[in-house]
Amino acid sequence: MQLETLEILRCPYCGGRLELVGSLFHRRTNDEIHDGILGCYCCIFPLVDGIPVLHLQPHATAARDHIQAGEPGLARRAMVGLEDAAEAEAFDAIASSGTATYRETVDALGPNFEGGYFLYRFSDPTYIVAQAVVRSVAKTVLPALSGVEGPALSGVEGPALSGVEGPALSGVEGPALSGVEGPALSGVEGHGTRRAIDICGGSGHLTRSLMDVSSLPPVLADLYYAKVWLARRFTAPGCEPVCCDGNAPFPFARGAFGFAMCTDAFMYIWTKRQFVGEMERLIDNTTINAEAAEPAEKNGSARSARSALNGAAGEPGAILIGHTHNERTWSPSHGQPLSAEGYRNLFETFEPRVFGEAGLFADVVKGGPIDLSRRDPDEVLDRDPALTIIASRHPRVFATHRLDALPPPAATGEFRLNPLYAATANGNSVRLRLQFPNGDYAEEYGACREYLPEEVFVDRDALAALPATALPDALVDLARRRVILDLPKRYY
Ligand SMILES: [Zn+2]
Repeated sequence: MQLETLEILRCPYCGGRLELVGSLFHRRTNDEIHDGILGCYCCIFPLVDGIPVLHLQPHATAARDHIQAGEPGLARRAMVGLEDAAEAEAFDAIASSGTATYRETVDALGPNFEGGYFLYRFSDPTYIVAQAVVRSVAKTVLPALSGVEGPALSGVEGPALSGVEGPALSGVEGPALSGVEGPALSGVEGHGTRRAIDICGGSGHLTRSLMDVSSLPPVLADLYYAKVWLARRFTAPGCEPVCCDGNAPFPFARGAFGFAMCTDAFMYIWTKRQFVGEMERLIDNTTINAEAAEPAEKNGSARSARSALNGAAGEPGAILIGHTHNERTWSPSHGQPLSAEGYRNLFETFEPRVFGEAGLFADVVKGGPIDLSRRDPDEVLDRDPALTIIASRHPRVFATHRLDALPPPAATGEFRLNPLYAATANGNSVRLRLQFPNGDYAEEYGACREYLPEEVFVDRDALAALPATALPDALVDLARRRVILDLPKRYY
């Protein structure tokens, strides 16, 4: 974990800031903490292999004891949940290998690990909708910083933010800065703090789509340690994983984020009202401005500078809950869903809009744009097994958004054959046939047939050029049809 991430962590129970307990076992560098104990006003939590574990479930307390005893390896074993010594050793060997794939590592986590369909995630219907909506909204509310290398604020429209000295910020559109004193902003190290967070993000498939829109590393929060560990290793390298409980208050400071999302998980959350209240808190920049106006001595100058800039980036943030099931329509792995009306009622400080996934899916399948200005009537929502909820005061969120070009100009990982395709040699060409891993997958994700071809033939030499970061011309059309995907390195 980057040391800087401590700035936004808070104890889920007392709300106190968390600090590395220097008197207990720890391993750190100047910038990162590898293992150690984090303490607040009320308790202590383990930080295991770079991942803070901010809940008190039994394996977390076991891991904490191992860290205190100076045994970080045993702490990680406790967190990945491998009881059997031989299995644990096999996992340790895979984890220390530089060449093991995501698939091999998932297999090493044992039969109890819920890893089954993740391999196919990057082309499943739920994912392609969520990815399009997530990127449309996140790029809108985190606009100034997307894609900017280095000093994050250069490239902000207009000259107002260049060089972030105190007074330079006057003239920024909107009221966000009123009340912030000039000096509060000095000491900002050139990075904005408009982060994104993926809550209950599992092994980080959608976190991956936030990597280039969040100026500071996006946070991936999930209860399952092994999943966020996999994400940092394979799926979303560079994200900041945090292990925490979605049914408890979130372990982050108010206003720490500009974009907060949760997809394909909200129907399994029991404390839905608290969860939404927490999302509202995470993107709330109004109180942060007041906090930033406190005297620097009281607040710590670096901290108030960061807080102030969060408000200073100015534009309102957004909450996105994607693919949550609908109480009025059955779906596989139903969870405890609400109706559209029930979901709307959870929000106290926003008027959210609810979308049926079918309409968004149709937008994505036809290549965009994705229309978030639509207002799906309740009878449409009631028939849709999955809903998407967006809450934001940003004026450009509820509009039409162009989709990213497909395929991307260069791979962020590497171009590979979609693992849903079975390849057989056919002279100078290769026959690719769509093949689902099992009947359950076909039932739940069969809608991918609307964009994945049943069978295609491809030039043998072109296919043999993969994996590659630049796509051979002969494969561009297949990449447009998602038969070739931009996958994480060493994915399978
Ligand atoms: Zn505490």
